[in-house]
Amino acid sequence: MTPEDYMRQALDLAVEASEVREVPVGAVIVKDGEIIGRGRNRTFETKNPLAHAEMIAMTEALENIGGWRLVDCDMYVTLEPCSMCAGAIVHSRLRKVYIGTPDSKAGACGSVLDITGEKRLNHQPEIEIGILQPECERILKEFFKKLRGKKGGTEDEKNREYFDTIASDSDAFL
Ligand SMILES: [Zn+2]
Repeated sequence: MTPEDYMRQALDLAVEASEVREVPVGAVIVKDGEIIGRGRNRTFETKNPLAHAEMIAMTEALENIGGWRLVDCDMYVTLEPCSMCAGAIVHSRLRKVYIGTPDSKAGACGSVLDITGEKRLNHQPEIEIGILQPECERILKEFFKKLRGKKGGTEDEKNREYFDTIASDSDAFL
């Protein structure tokens, strides 16, 4: 399996998120060539801002290995992690994070903040950005375009309300 193959798995999870009107972000954790954790964004359905794809994938991976750290594990995530997830990545000691597309408004792996590269913290995972970037970016743009509806306005009141709720979180892709 290549990095692109694993990113494709993360993209499948992002698609699953978009199908239930969650912002399409997916993540997988790989150890020794095997996927041990999967996650997709669930913030809206769980009404929990902590329910990002990366947090869910890391939690599942930790449960699967029965440990409390993800040493020798890599993450593949379609969108650059936010400050919360980047902090969790440092805490869990992930070896490397492969990122699909950068997030110019909220990314914390070098775009807005550089939590994963901060030398004063005790761990710096390796970061690689741009795995299947066009696909990872497209799914976000299409999601917001569809939600916003045609002619710059949303199709109905419910859509507009939902759009306003989530737009501020991901406005780099509007
Ligand atoms: Zn996050």
